[in-house]
Amino acid sequence: LRERKLIVQIIPFENRRQILVTHDATESERIDMMRRDFIANASHELRTPLTVINGFLEIAQAQPDLDQKTRAAHLQLMTEQGHRMQNLIGDMLTLTRLESIDYPLRPEPVDMQAMLRSLLQEAEVLSAGKHSFSLAVDGPDITGSNDELRSAFSNLISNAVRYTPAGGKIQILWQNGRAGPQLVVKDSGIGISAEHISRLTERFYRVDKSRSRETQGTGLGLAIVKHVLLRHHGSLGVESRPGEGSVFTVKLPAASVVAVAKD
Ligand code: ADP
Repeated sequence: LRERKLIVQIIPFENRRQILVTHDATESERIDMMRRDFIANASHELRTPLTVINGFLEIAQAQPDLDQKTRAAHLQLMTEQGHRMQNLIGDMLTLTRLESIDYPLRPEPVDMQAMLRSLLQEAEVLSAGKHSFSLAVDGPDITGSNDELRSAFSNLISNAVRYTPAGGKIQILWQNGRAGPQLVVKDSGIGISAEHISRLTERFYRVDKSRSRETQGTGLGLAIVKHVLLRHHGSLGVESRPGEGSVFTVKLPAASVVAVAKD
């Protein structure tokens, strides 16, 4: 258990001493530490691609007569690193917005069939024919933020593709659960061992850094999922075994179901 740090003032009061707790520093220190960690991690993540880009720019300046083929290869690597930085900044801005009280959730009708079909098409592009997919939409339409839910579901589905080797299978199910509608994203991929599961939604937490980077991961996807679900009063469940695959389940409250008009 962490030691609690309370700031107390001792104030004399009618010949007795009265202790007044003015501030619980434990929570604010924890938030401060998280903020520092986030900035340190984000700076490190941005510095790596920038170092690569600067390195190739220096080569281009020092060796203007480089052959076409080498130049093209360098430009390709710089472009990839540029995209990496762009993805990272995009995810950081999304997370900041999701946490901001200035951006209250604006619920609107969400057409689940249309959203999941279009996410499936995106996943097929990402997979480039290397996986087989199935989609079953049996659940109801809901209310929520289209943009936020799309981004959460997209992160789960693209993770399923990115962490499943070629030849694997990805199943997407939208169904009525016991307590409300739920999205199940099931893959036959590399899986996750038990000790990592509780930390997956931490910012920049990765089981395997190099695999995450190879597949354009920012390390912020599941943190975004967590925050979107918090705002929608939903939850995320993970079941996984290394080498056998993973099942990510998003549960949304029954209250989010769009009421069907009775005639
Ligand atoms: P990343 O951008 O690294 O994928 P995420 O926040 O989306 O970041 O996920 C955090 C980590 O959780 C990943 O780096 C990966 O190790 C693990 N992970 C997420 N989804 C899956 C999955 N479907 N199968 C195996 N591992 C996964």
